[in-house]
Amino acid sequence: MKRLVVLGGGESGVGAALLGKAKGYQVFVSDFGKIKENYKNVLKHYEIEWEDGGHTEANILNADVVMKSPGIPDKAPIVKQLKANGVKIVSELEFASQFTNATIIGITGSNGKTTTATLTHHILKQELNVGLSGNIGDSFAKQILDYNYPNYVLEISSFQLDDIEHFRPHIAVITNITPDHLDRYDYKFENYIASKFRIAMNQTAQDYLIYDADDEVIEVWLKAHPVQSTLLPFSLKKDLENGTCIENENIKITIDNNQITMPVKDISLQGNHNIKNAMAASTVAHLLKIRKQTIRESLENFQGVEHRLEQVLKINKVNYINDSKATNVNATYYALESMDAPTVWIVGGQDKGNDYRELYPFVNEKVKAIICLGVDNSKIIDAFNGMVDVMVETQFMSEAVKIAYKIAEPGDNVLLSPACASFDLFENYEDRGRQFKQAVRNL
Ligand code: ADP
Repeated sequence: MKRLVVLGGGESGVGAALLGKAKGYQVFVSDFGKIKENYKNVLKHYEIEWEDGGHTEANILNADVVMKSPGIPDKAPIVKQLKANGVKIVSELEFASQFTNATIIGITGSNGKTTTATLTHHILKQELNVGLSGNIGDSFAKQILDYNYPNYVLEISSFQLDDIEHFRPHIAVITNITPDHLDRYDYKFENYIASKFRIAMNQTAQDYLIYDADDEVIEVWLKAHPVQSTLLPFSLKKDLENGTCIENENIKITIDNNQITMPVKDISLQGNHNIKNAMAASTVAHLLKIRKQTIRESLENFQGVEHRLEQVLKINKVNYINDSKATNVNATYYALESMDAPTVWIVGGQDKGNDYRELYPFVNEKVKAIICLGVDNSKIIDAFNGMVDVMVETQFMSEAVKIAYKIAEPGDNVLLSPACASFDLFENYEDRGRQFKQAVRNL
C-alpha cells in the first residue's frame, strides 16, 4: 500500500486525503497549526489518521508521496527535509488530476482569477456538466470523488502550480501578471512569472493558452520562452486575426476563421478589466462550442462575485461600492478607472511594498476625498498629499463609512478599494468587505 502524507489540513488537504483514501492509499494528515473542527470531524469519520500543532517526522518522511497545501512555503523546515530525502512533493491539483479524464480549464493570473473562473463556469454550465473549483468552494480532489464532472473550471494560484508535474489543462487562461506574493519567490518577479507560466508547461499544440496581449509582462515573457500551446490572445487595444479583440463596440472572437461577435454593452459587469475577463471567459466558451446566444445571455445576467466592485446600496443617490478584494494596486487601478462620478475613496491596510504612482491620474480626476483605513497610513498620506481636498484617517470601518456619508453628495460614489492586505485591522478581505456592507446598511 502506498503512503500518502498530506501537509496542511485545510480544504485542499482534506480533499486530497479523502480522495487518496478512496484510491487505496494509506493516508496521514499533518498540520503545523490547528485543523478546524469541521475538517477534524471529516477525517475522523473516514478513519484517516491525522495530527495538528506540529509535525511528527517519523510519520512524514516515510511517505511515498507528499501532498503539500498551497499555503506552506518551500522554506518550511519539514519541506526542506522532505526535499533533502528525495520524497516526491505535489500540489493538490497534481495529485487529484491523475484520477480524472475531465476536460480542464485552468485559470491563473495576478488579478481576475475568481471573477473569470466564476463567469466562465456560469456560461459553460448552461450547456455542459461542469464543476467549479480550485481556490473556490469544495476542493478539486473532493469534487472528483463526489461528482466526477466531465469538465472543470479551476481557479489556480501560483502556489498550486509550483508543485505540478503532469497537470495539463486543455484550456489555460492567464488573466494578467503584476508583482504579487514576491516573498514566496525570493523577491524575484521573474520567478513569479515563471510560476504562472507553468500552467502551460505540459500543454501541446492541441491545447490552448488564452492570455492578455495588452500585458507587456506576458508578451515579453512569451517571446523569450515560447510554449507548445496554441495561442489565443485577447486585447482591448490591438486588432487580432486570431484571438479576441474589440471591433465597433463588439467583442470579436476568431478561432480558425470561425468568428462570433457580441456587443460590449451587454456585459453586466462594470469596468475595462471586466471586459477583459468577459473576453477570456467567452473565448473559452467559444472553444467549447457553447452557442453564441448562450454566451451573450450569460454575460448579460452574470451577477458578479462578492467583494469585487460589488454594488452595495444607493443612499441619497450616493452609490456605495465594495471592492474589498482589491488587495493590490493593480486591482484598485481598475476600480478607480471604472468610476464614472466623483468618488470618496476608502483605502489602506497592510502595505505590500505598494507604488501608488500609477493611480495619480485617476485620483486627480475623480477622487474628491481619501479616507485612510489602516494601522499605518503614512505611506498613503505621503503619496496623495495635496492631491485631494479632504484626507482623513481612521481605524474603524463604521467611522470610515460615516465620514464618507458626510462628505458624499448626490451622484457621488463611495468606494472601498483598499489596494492593501486586510490583516492589520480585519480577519481577511471578506471580513473587511462584510463590515463595510454592514456599516453602509446601518447608515
Ligand atoms: P483573484 O481571484 O485573482 O484575486 P478576483 O476576481 O477576486 O481576482 O479580483 C480581485 C480584484 O481585482 C478585485 O478588486 C477585482 O475588481 C480586480 N480585478 C478583477 N479582474 C481584474 C483584471 N482582469 N485585472 C485587474 N484587476 C482585476
